[in-house]
Amino acid sequence: MVAPPERYDFDAIVVGAGPAGATAALVLARAGRSVCLVERGPFAGSKNVYGGVIYARILDELIPGWWDEAPVQRWVTRRATVLMTDHQALTVDYRTSAWGEPPYNGATAYRPDFDAWLADKAVEAGAVLVTSTTARGLLVDELTGQVCGIRTDRPDGDLTARAVIACDGVNSFLAKEAGMYLHPEPEHFTLGAKEVLALPREEIEKRFALSGREGADFEIVGCTQGIPGGGFVYTNLDTVAVGVVVSLTGLSASGIRPEELIAGLKAHPMIAPLVEGAELKEYSAHLIPEGGYDTMPELTGDGILVAGDAACMCLAAGIWLEGVNFAIGSGEAAGRAVDEALAMGDTSAAGLAGYRRRLEGGFVLQDHRKLRRAPHLVLSDRVQNAYPTLACDLVEQLFTVTNPVPKKGAVKAFLEGYQRAGLKVGDLARDGWAAIRTFG
Ligand SMILES: Cc1cc2nc3c(=O)[nH]c(=O)nc-3n(C[C@H](O)[C@H](O)[C@H](O)COP(=O)(O)OP(=O)(O)OC[C@H]3O[C@@H](n4cnc5c(N)ncnc54)[C@H](O)[C@@H]3O)c2cc1C
Repeated sequence: MVAPPERYDFDAIVVGAGPAGATAALVLARAGRSVCLVERGPFAGSKNVYGGVIYARILDELIPGWWDEAPVQRWVTRRATVLMTDHQALTVDYRTSAWGEPPYNGATAYRPDFDAWLADKAVEAGAVLVTSTTARGLLVDELTGQVCGIRTDRPDGDLTARAVIACDGVNSFLAKEAGMYLHPEPEHFTLGAKEVLALPREEIEKRFALSGREGADFEIVGCTQGIPGGGFVYTNLDTVAVGVVVSLTGLSASGIRPEELIAGLKAHPMIAPLVEGAELKEYSAHLIPEGGYDTMPELTGDGILVAGDAACMCLAAGIWLEGVNFAIGSGEAAGRAVDEALAMGDTSAAGLAGYRRRLEGGFVLQDHRKLRRAPHLVLSDRVQNAYPTLACDLVEQLFTVTNPVPKKGAVKAFLEGYQRAGLKVGDLARDGWAAIRTFG
C-alpha cells in the first residue's frame, strides 16, 4: 500500500511489450493518453517464443496496409493437417493462391522482428517504451485500495498511473498479485518447444513446393509419443520451425524430454526429407495457457486490466494455436476501455467494465466461448491416438493392392481398424457429435 500519488507519472502503464501490450499502448497513445510500455527484455520481442504463424487480419483497421510494412517471412498459402502414427502419415493438404495476396490470411514471422515493429508503432504514436525493466509488483493506493502503479527493478524505482494493463504473458504474476487469477492448475497449461533449422531458401521452396514468398504450415496430430499434444512445421524464408506442444502433466508423467519429441518428429519418414541436412539455429520452449475460456482470470480489478496470454486468451487446442491475434484483439479492447474510463474519471473496476463488454462483443470472447471444449476434444486419447491409427490403417488398406487376394471392402476394413484401434461402439458417433458442437 502506498499514499495516494500527488500526481501520476502516466495515464496508463502497460506491462509487457508482446503483441497485447504493444497494441494496448498504441491505442492509448493514439487517443492522446500518456502511456508507458514496460518490457523486461532488452527490446520488444527479445524474450518471446511461438511457433511461427500470425493471423494478422485483426490489424486491418488498426494499421491499414500492415502487410506492406510488417516484417513477414512468408505468406501461408499451404496449410496441411497431418494424422500420424510412428510410420504413417495421412494429410489433408490445402493450398490457395488467395492467401498469397492482400489482405492475406496467415504469415510466418520472427517474433523479435514482429513484436519490435508493433512496439515501434506505439512509440511513433507517442508511447514511452522502457526496456530492460521488470515490473516486480503492484502499487496500491492505501485510501482507495485501487492499483495505482508498479514497482520496478530499476534504481529510480516505481511508476504511478491511473490504470495498469497487465500484458505480462502466461502465468501472469501481476494478475495473481491482484487476486484476479484464481486457479492456475498445471493441467491448464501446455509446453511448446521448437527448433529453428536453417536451410537455403531455394531448398525450402523445392522441398515444400513453394515459390516466391509462399509459405507452408503443417499441423500434426499423433507425433507426441502418446502425450496429449501435437506438432508443427512452418517455413520461413531460409529456416524451418519444427516443434511440439504437449500437456504439461502428460510430459512430466512420461519422463520424455521435449527435445526428444522434436527429434522423433524430425526422424519421421514424412518430415525427415523436409529437414534433412538442416543446421540447428535455435531451441526454445515456453508455456501456453491451453485452458481457454473456462480458466480465464477476472479481467478487471480496481485500476487494473489483464490482456493476452496473461488472461489465458490464447486460443489453443494442441495442434491449433492462435495467440498473437487474440493478444492484439484483447490489447486493443483494453486500450480503448482504459481511454473511456479515463474520460469518465473512473478507473475502478466499474469504470473499466467496458473492457469485458468490448471482448464479449467481438471475436476474442465469442470465439473462446464457442470453442471452449476444443482443447478437451483435441487432447482426448481417442483423437490423439485411436483416430490417427484408424484413419492411416484404413487408407493403407484401401491403397494396398492385395492381388492375388481379392480386395477387402471399405466397410470391412473400417470395422476391423475400428476394433484394432480399441474403439467402442458409439465412440466415433459421440466424438463426431462433440466435434459438431465444438466447431459448428
Ligand atoms: C511454442 C509456441 C508456439 C506458438 N505458436 C503460435 C502460433 O504459431 N501463432 C500464434 O498466433 N500464437 C502462437 N503461440 C501463442 C503466442 O505466442 C501467444 O499467445 C502470444 O505471444 C501472447 O502474446 P502476449 O502479448 O499476451 O504475451 P507475450 O507474447 O508472452 O508477451 C509478454 C511480454 O511481457 C514481458 N514481461 C513478462 N513479465 C514481465 C514483467 N514482470 N515486467 C516487464 N515485462 C514483462 C515479456 O518479456 C514479453 O515481452 C505459440 C506459443 C508457443 C509457446
